[in-house]
Amino acid sequence: MKVFKFGGASVKDAAGVRNLAAIVQNQGKQSVVVVSAMGKTTNALERIVRAYVDRQNNDLVAELQSLRTYHDDIMQTLGGDFTAVRQTLAGLETYLTQTPAGSYDEIYDQIVSLGEVISTQIIAAYMIQQGIPARWADARRLVRTDATFREGRVDWDATGKAISASIVTDAITITQGFIGQTGSPDRTTTLGREGSDYTAAIFAYCLDAESVTIWKDVPGVLNADPKWFDDTVLLEKLTYQDAIELAYYGATVIHPKTIKPLQNKNIPLYVRSFLQPNAPGTVIGTFDKHLSIPSFIFKINQVLISLHPNDFSFIAEDNLSRIFGRFAQLGVKINLMQNTAISFSVVVDNNPDRLPTLLEQLKQDFRVSYNDGLELITIRYYDQATIDRVLVHKKLLLEQKSRYTVQLVAKDAV
Ligand code: ASP
Ligand code: MG
Repeated sequence: MKVFKFGGASVKDAAGVRNLAAIVQNQGKQSVVVVSAMGKTTNALERIVRAYVDRQNNDLVAELQSLRTYHDDIMQTLGGDFTAVRQTLAGLETYLTQTPAGSYDEIYDQIVSLGEVISTQIIAAYMIQQGIPARWADARRLVRTDATFREGRVDWDATGKAISASIVTDAITITQGFIGQTGSPDRTTTLGREGSDYTAAIFAYCLDAESVTIWKDVPGVLNADPKWFDDTVLLEKLTYQDAIELAYYGATVIHPKTIKPLQNKNIPLYVRSFLQPNAPGTVIGTFDKHLSIPSFIFKINQVLISLHPNDFSFIAEDNLSRIFGRFAQLGVKINLMQNTAISFSVVVDNNPDRLPTLLEQLKQDFRVSYNDGLELITIRYYDQATIDRVLVHKKLLLEQKSRYTVQLVAKDAV
């Protein structure tokens, strides 16, 4: 059994769906195909949640209309029996006529999860119409989670049982990335934005799959984001460890949670181009050699927060546990940290939903200083020449080196 994952960009239009069907037919006769919502549908559904909760009816109607039109166009071009899609859309509209109930995050998951339901219903219907033996599977019945809405934690035992009981080998299974469900009562959950890669790993783990392939619009894993660098190099082989480090520090090519389940069962992960399906791409697995060239990861819109205890006490265990507690509670992820005797600095994403509350809370115990508009540059397998190169025209605020990785916090020199 092979597991394939197709992201939103690969199925953003009818041509993308046809391409997916061709790749799966050629390369994945026995496969589970995990698919994301089409194009930018998840963002559109997030706006629908906002409009619904804020009771902005005009916005809601407009957003719903464009969601419908977008999918209708694709269905019309493809052809097939799309009854299931119509039912899903009708169900969404009924839900949205009710008064919002439950927490924001719970409502979010009930609505945003439908992007994946719709995309897979369209793809399965199209494939069946083409005579391809496809079978639609509801990932909500298979990926079982706790009730942490928007960041559901997988119940591996229940998920393993559900998946092995339901996946068949005589059809191509088409299922949703990103979504799951709690046990009694059943409430839909999501696994966190960009979580479809993780879903592919969950299926692969539970099925002892032969491999996972993530089909992308890039040729594989590159040593830098082509958005920032002209001469990027394709990494043909990558160890699980290197892949996890790169993903953790912000390489967006793979969701960071994807690697662990695969590493645990030694299942290789291929990253290949859906535009050139015969090119080999990158394989991530167990190799005895690590990368030989530096890899770069850029995170922009970073904030450096420095904390100094009001009473000049040391930054010690009791302070640290209080600080970490606040970050964890508000779900603010620390990208880098550094401490001295009487100060503690962290770099985080500039998240306008969460940071103001966090800063407010920290100010109760600490003098807080704050620097925004920064870049966090991580270089794995660095050397001085690459450090100098990335810091041209930049002012360095903080640097942290370990044996293989350097992290630089910098801002544009003006
Ligand atoms: N559709 C979801 C998102 O855009 C999940 C995914 O694409 O992996 O975040
Ligand atoms: Mg997506």
